[in-house]
Amino acid sequence: MPPIRLDARDLLEHNARYGVLICRECRYAIQKSALRSHLLRHKIFRGERQRLLSSIAQLDLLEPHHVPLPDPTSPPIDGLPISSGYCCTATGCAHLCATAKRMRRHWSECHDLKETSPNSSSFARPVTLQTFFRGTKLRYFEVAVPPVVNTAGGIPLVTNTGDGGESRHDEQNCGEDGPIEPRVSAPPKTSPTVSPIGADLEMLTYFHHFTTTTSLTLPGAEHPQSATHYWQVNVVHQALQRQWLMCGLLAISAGHLAALADETTIKQVHCVRFAQFLRTFSIGLEETERGLDAVSTVAKEAKKAGGQIMCVLRCAYWVLAGSMLDQGTLTGLAAPLHIQSILTTIRGFSTPDLLLSAAGTLSDGAERQEATFTQAMRVLEEVRGTSETGHAGDASPLNNTASALFNRTLTLPYRMAETFGKPESAEDVLATLSAIAALVECSYISFSPSGVGGAWLGMVTWLNKVPEHFIYLVGSHNLAALVVLAHWAAFLVKRAEHCGCWFLSGLTKSILLQIAERLPPDNHAVQSLVEDLIA
Ligand SMILES: [Zn+2]
Ligand SMILES: [Zn+2]
Repeated sequence: MPPIRLDARDLLEHNARYGVLICRECRYAIQKSALRSHLLRHKIFRGERQRLLSSIAQLDLLEPHHVPLPDPTSPPIDGLPISSGYCCTATGCAHLCATAKRMRRHWSECHDLKETSPNSSSFARPVTLQTFFRGTKLRYFEVAVPPVVNTAGGIPLVTNTGDGGESRHDEQNCGEDGPIEPRVSAPPKTSPTVSPIGADLEMLTYFHHFTTTTSLTLPGAEHPQSATHYWQVNVVHQALQRQWLMCGLLAISAGHLAALADETTIKQVHCVRFAQFLRTFSIGLEETERGLDAVSTVAKEAKKAGGQIMCVLRCAYWVLAGSMLDQGTLTGLAAPLHIQSILTTIRGFSTPDLLLSAAGTLSDGAERQEATFTQAMRVLEEVRGTSETGHAGDASPLNNTASALFNRTLTLPYRMAETFGKPESAEDVLATLSAIAALVECSYISFSPSGVGGAWLGMVTWLNKVPEHFIYLVGSHNLAALVVLAHWAAFLVKRAEHCGCWFLSGLTKSILLQIAERLPPDNHAVQSLVEDLIA
């Protein structure tokens, strides 16, 4: 029986099969006792509310504990979010929970297994979950996510699994897909009646999308022109030898498909896969880091590719988390979207060590400080040259927009000097000037005709060129440093976003808004340095 829509706004949906009323906006079922207040929450008043309440009164709505749970082979229930989780495979148990941590607690509480037990991974398998109710009435049930065969606009293939209803959770593939071991077979079986090739075809679909489409959108670390070759040949070659690395590529592919999808259900299915692949990849990367043979060039290459994949995945995570109504699918996968974690993530693309160091910083050697000083001197000379000749050099390969930005960057030290007055620390000034110098330099790379590769390279290179002290200043909310960072975001991050880096979508805005929050609202002089960037 198809769900029945009750109101003009399509807010409420009656699912007669399970006897529930689902709020399509909140995406969960509402208890009978909470109906009145729930309608108020959606600003449904008086007449309309009375009308709705009386038509709802005609429906057969069950109390939460009486609602039957769907069979694990059923397709997802429309209107409810889909999330990834685990099913306990102990005989007769089939307990479901959303996180590995909770599952470990379940093992220790109900099966008397130590939380650190090395074999604990074989007591659960990854599953796809939904719940009708939230809060105290939350009860997860497993659903079968159909394999996604087509690309972005594709329709999920609904496999008709029949209404057997006899298969119990604990009888399916006991522990075959343990969540802890990095294995390619991470996605759950779509249903017990589907042959294993079904799951493999789904993975091949993600792999195919990676090699034919996603790989063209990914940047390279050093040579922008050869980035596609790097991802399609070098990285794929390594991934075919390391399952965790392959999971990383499949995660990027799933993230890309999720970002491209317009339809919420399809987006969700890809997000669930993204989360599953990402988990397996992260564990593999960590293990490789710990047991890394420093002499082996092969291992170093894998570590490098792994660091780059992690960087893309963390960015993609922010894009997806921002665009999903429901955060459940993606909870706990990566750091929150804060300036500091953005900087560490992007720097990690070419400096993988950073991603793994706890502090997220490296120290400035004497050599770097020397280079900083030279850079700072150079930018001052360049500024002088500009003010004498009136433009930033005829050899500039930049277009009009770019040279406007470029000139703006060059005059930034002067404008900042006026705003901030006499500086207190020579080291701070030097670091800030050096960051501006690097910005000038990197603008050339960003706005070079090589498109997405150059744009990405310029953005990343700046973060690796600025002195470590500058990153420290940003972290301590130094106003001058934040002003320079805003210029980087508005010029170089935006450029990369516009050049097709789908995994950076919305990042410029997030960074600028966070900077705006940190500037004192009553300091109009500082505000005026960045307000048109933020607007
Ligand atoms: Zn609602
Ligand atoms: Zn159990």
